[in-house]
Amino acid sequence: RARQLGKVYHMGDVDVHALRGVDLELYRGEFVVMLGPSGSGKSTLLNILGGLDVPSSGEVWYHGEDLTHAGDARLTQFRREHVGFVFQFYNLIPSLTARENVAIVTEIAPDPMQPEDALALVGLGERLDHFPAQLSGGEQQRVAIARAIAKRPVVMLCDEPTGALDSATGVRVLEALEQVNADMGTTTVVITHNADIARMAHRVLTMADGRIVGEQVNAQRLPARELRW
Ligand code: ATP
Ligand code: MG
Repeated sequence: RARQLGKVYHMGDVDVHALRGVDLELYRGEFVVMLGPSGSGKSTLLNILGGLDVPSSGEVWYHGEDLTHAGDARLTQFRREHVGFVFQFYNLIPSLTARENVAIVTEIAPDPMQPEDALALVGLGERLDHFPAQLSGGEQQRVAIARAIAKRPVVMLCDEPTGALDSATGVRVLEALEQVNADMGTTTVVITHNADIARMAHRVLTMADGRIVGEQVNAQRLPARELRW
């Protein structure tokens, strides 16, 4: 839960107001899509929600805990244990196979999935021993998703996961995210410029100029809201 999040970057004489008072509550099991023009603050918000960055004002709460004032060590632990990140560029390690790229994460997680199971979930059960260079872009991104889900995160935060892919490949990647959300109930937030993707969402948030300016709820697809944190 984000309360009145503000983020100001001080750039010499100029203050860049990236977030201007964002209130947001994510429900457990939700699949949320975030839209908005370039520079509207989407990545800044996602990074703060996931503990990669800290706000200039406001708070992020998780399970009744104020993470903003919990200290660096706690924030790092929260991020490692509970957050799965997926970015536009997959950041796979080229010298490791798909299975090994996922296993890196499962070695440090308290209750990990088997790498093979995580890869099967994203449709890559037949690509375990491929190196990144032997996989297509969409397959590499699905390895990155498998790596993110293998630690059983509470929330998956995806910043333009299909940004480097053609649209058909992008759809396949999003279907993998949707599958994870449906099978494991992983709360998922996806930033995208592709409005088509919004159809898959339980809720679509639109950002502009550092604020959430629109919320569209897909009532038919919404999971039970009593499933609070
Ligand atoms: P895009 O769709 O292009 O990825 P975005 O909505 O993700 O855009 P952000 O990356 O959150 O936008 O940036 C919001 C604003 O904050 C922008 O004006 C950007 O220039 C500024 N900004 C972001 N990161 C920094 C930083 N590290 N230092 C200074 N300014 C920053
Ligand atoms: Mg961005």
